[in-house]
Amino acid sequence: MSSSHPAEPSDLIALGKRYWLSVYRPRDVVLDHGKGARVWDTEGRDYLDFGAGIAVNALGHQDPDLVEALVTQAHKLWHASNVFYSEPPLRLAAELVGHAPFAERVFLCNSGTEANEAAIKLVRKWAASQGRPPEQRVIVTFTGSFHGRTLAAVTATAQLKYQEGYEPLPGGFRYVPFNDPAALEEAFAQGGVAAVMLEPVQGEGGVMPAAPGFLKTVRELCDAHGALMVLDEIQCGMGRTGTLFAHTHDHVTPDIVTLAKALGAGFPIGAMLVGPKVADVMQFGAHGTTFGGNPMAAAVARVALEKLASPAVLLNVERQGNDIRAGLAKINHELHLFSEVRGRGLMIGAVLDTPYKGRAGEILDLAAAHGLLILQAGPDVLRIVPPLTISDEETAEGLERLGAALGAFASEAKVA
Ligand code: PLP
Repeated sequence: MSSSHPAEPSDLIALGKRYWLSVYRPRDVVLDHGKGARVWDTEGRDYLDFGAGIAVNALGHQDPDLVEALVTQAHKLWHASNVFYSEPPLRLAAELVGHAPFAERVFLCNSGTEANEAAIKLVRKWAASQGRPPEQRVIVTFTGSFHGRTLAAVTATAQLKYQEGYEPLPGGFRYVPFNDPAALEEAFAQGGVAAVMLEPVQGEGGVMPAAPGFLKTVRELCDAHGALMVLDEIQCGMGRTGTLFAHTHDHVTPDIVTLAKALGAGFPIGAMLVGPKVADVMQFGAHGTTFGGNPMAAAVARVALEKLASPAVLLNVERQGNDIRAGLAKINHELHLFSEVRGRGLMIGAVLDTPYKGRAGEILDLAAAHGLLILQAGPDVLRIVPPLTISDEETAEGLERLGAALGAFASEAKVA
């Protein structure tokens, strides 16, 4: 039973410090509830939410249609497992394929890393089905990538800091500098490549978009060498860049796309969408998960998908994205903190200029103190990924708070 007395935030935080495995270092804010692009802590302070739970709450907080979908399903059936059918995941799969011209089938799971794990296993199974020996089932990934924390996904993630101490890592991955077509050609020339896996806009690696034409080059090289193209759209998909799928901007047809985060708009769910080359490779018993396609998650995701694919939301992404870029440019004109603002749609990275490198964490603390939640993507990049439904007023107020926080940072930095 919970206590009837309101808990002190410091007491609650102490529970985390005492009982959680120490893998996270949250800011000292205990969030309580949210509405739209605004959240409140347990002491009633409000924050503009420019982080959306790491690009998850794409429809903001307490979207009434999502709440209704969840509550309606909660009164019907919570869980069925995949030994029986239930309606929401059946419909969700059909609707995902309906929105994805490249896809024929869907595997539903619970998180991003699981979607990528499924993709990695599918690539291997496909290569095996073609008679390729294990050494010819190499998956190429890129420096700065992030694909998740399970052992295969963390090995696909070409960043040592996520891998150190977890050796022995699974074999069969080859790392290549991002946005470097010559290096990718060289990786193919070494032979044995079964797939290339990448994020159309790298998220954790610093909000770094694929260079114009790079996805096309990947597709062409994959075709020339009989390899699959796997796109991790876990962070950049579901409307975040202004189109439902981020790769639509680049006019390429992938073989596999992974989704999670905004797919459930805050309810955990992941998905792997697969095209004709690989749709029938995995047969009965080849893969599975108890919770995948959970009726509650799927019921919410169906509504999220319908809303996130709507022109109204996608146009809002463009509009608010432009306003936030303009706001950042204005702030930077005054304070000279950023060397570059990059990204696409409402996935925006402000890169700290040389004197301020490594100080993104301090800025996040100051932003929270000024009533704004933002994220970092590494120590040098401020990451802004608000709900895709953020309003003009919420954007304007968030930018005002960001300006105040950065002003405080700049004056502290000058004094120091
Ligand atoms: N892939 C990308 C591009 C991500 O940004 C993330 C999470 O940040 C993942 C995979 C892993 O997703 P999850 O944390 O749901 O396992």
